[in-house]
Amino acid sequence: MCGIVGYIGPRDAAPILMDGLSRLEYRGYDSAGIALVTNNGEMFVEKKAGKLSNLRTALNESTPLAAVGLAHTRWATHGRPNDLNAHPQIDCTGEITVIHNGIIENFRELRQGLAERGHTLRSETDTEAIAHLVEETYEGDIGDAVRRALERVHGAYAIAVLHKREPGRLVGARMNVPLIVGLGNGENFIASDVAAVLCHTDRVQFLEEGDVVDIDADTVHITSVEGNDRMRPVHTIDWSVEAAEKGGYSHFMLKEMHEQPHALRSSITGRVLDDRIDLPELAPLRDHLEKVERVEFVACGSANYASAVGSYLFQSWTGLPTRNNIGSEFRYSPPPLDEHTLVIAVSQSGETADTIAPTRLARSIGSPVIAVTNAVGSAITREADAVVFLQAGPEIAVVATKTFVTQVTTLVLLAAAVAKLRGRLSAERERELITALRRLPDDAARALELTVGPSQELARRYVNSRGFMFVGRGVGFPVALEGALKLKEVSYVHAEGQAAGELKHGPISLLDAEVPLVAIMTRSSLKEKLISNVMEGRARDARVLAVATEGDEAVRDYADDVLWVPDTLEELSPVLAVIPLQLFAYHTAVARGTDVDQPRNLAKSVTVE
Ligand code: GLU
Repeated sequence: MCGIVGYIGPRDAAPILMDGLSRLEYRGYDSAGIALVTNNGEMFVEKKAGKLSNLRTALNESTPLAAVGLAHTRWATHGRPNDLNAHPQIDCTGEITVIHNGIIENFRELRQGLAERGHTLRSETDTEAIAHLVEETYEGDIGDAVRRALERVHGAYAIAVLHKREPGRLVGARMNVPLIVGLGNGENFIASDVAAVLCHTDRVQFLEEGDVVDIDADTVHITSVEGNDRMRPVHTIDWSVEAAEKGGYSHFMLKEMHEQPHALRSSITGRVLDDRIDLPELAPLRDHLEKVERVEFVACGSANYASAVGSYLFQSWTGLPTRNNIGSEFRYSPPPLDEHTLVIAVSQSGETADTIAPTRLARSIGSPVIAVTNAVGSAITREADAVVFLQAGPEIAVVATKTFVTQVTTLVLLAAAVAKLRGRLSAERERELITALRRLPDDAARALELTVGPSQELARRYVNSRGFMFVGRGVGFPVALEGALKLKEVSYVHAEGQAAGELKHGPISLLDAEVPLVAIMTRSSLKEKLISNVMEGRARDARVLAVATEGDEAVRDYADDVLWVPDTLEELSPVLAVIPLQLFAYHTAVARGTDVDQPRNLAKSVTVE
């Protein structure tokens, strides 16, 4: 999900492309590559796993002069981060190169069909299928070939394509992944975002879904996949390079919160089909999963709260005793582990030492392990029998936002898939889940739209509170924990998350007019009980800030302020309910002037125990 840069014009392409890649470095990547059609008419390709410096070293002294080329930083989703899987991907003839950000949903069928038709696929990537499809559809016009190939591709992509026989052209396309065109004088650019081209031009066109762009040094021609002309306005960008990296947002955290609808869409890609929920990643564990007798989750921080939602659903859908464990505690009081105990380890980075150590222990005893992570090639993927990736794209801010909502969603899919395999998920329930999951990205966009302004206003109003008490019940309890954690992490204000029923057993003594109660009051089977707990808080003068379901006006009787989110299935409600709490934490932090993207004392991935 990383970076694309393409250049065509009179200057030497390689240094421009490498500079563009380094400006996309902030997005995180695991490998990088470049393709050039040299001034001698040859296709030159170099790609290397690891940091950009590895590619730079490989290119040193050997880079030929070229007036056209494309370059990529990869953030693997399909296939390990190694030299072969790095982009550009190449067709059988070696004349066509493709770089891609995103996920091709029907890559299995495409790769299989291509292999049956005699193509040799060398990498493990979904992207390579596009190179071979373009090879099949090519009849002398690379623009036409790309359009025809894309008719057969489902999924999310920003691509750039180069053909050795047409060095005067560069073709790009966008579907649900950003791609822009930079307009220079006698030269043009394609890039994932404006940061990559800003030092060459401030004039850009933002492509929209289904656009195919065909550029030469002087002209830009945009069409639909069907070939109909499309016009996109030219914008003059007045952002600094730093602002451009953040997509115009003031912080990565804010940008990533706004990316949540897209991250959710990508997370369910290829998994929530028209008629079924399908996690092919579980295939190696199928026999084990049928015989499993208990489930142990293990995770830390936000991942542990996502796992709390996961364990709640696992237990209620599969009927198996399920427990959620804190990674750093697991080894010192291990649960009973054997081949019938399924261990699910959740870690955003896949490098969390406190989660990896228990995973190793469980595996050494013979327990089947499923890892849930956002990072392909990370340490935890080597410790597991099956891996389910979040497919959320890189997260740069230290605090988890889009990885939390995609963890919850992925665990919902996992719980449903295991329940189904064990004959515990009715067809009707599955249909209900499919409908709600498909709506979830739009619901998340609506949650953002509803709460972006009010959360800022409330953060300003509550900024001087002495502390905050977050409460919820059922799957709302982990939301309370995550909401409190977000606030602590970025604003340094003390906050507690409690099961609402626990309030009266102790923490209620903290409540007064200076300590507001933040209640997760979205539609749920436990709402009546929650109302009683909220009333207990109110009776102690606490102001009540509720997160509630749009349209549930009765909440105003119990709450001083309300942040509204759209309705969804109760099991999916944590995904939406957490959004206003992330925003609230963010705006509180901004109001208090903290370092939002790199809060003091925190690291993105905690690799020590
Ligand atoms: N799905 C592609 C791959 O794994 C593209 C990844 C990316 O967006 O960098 O190679």
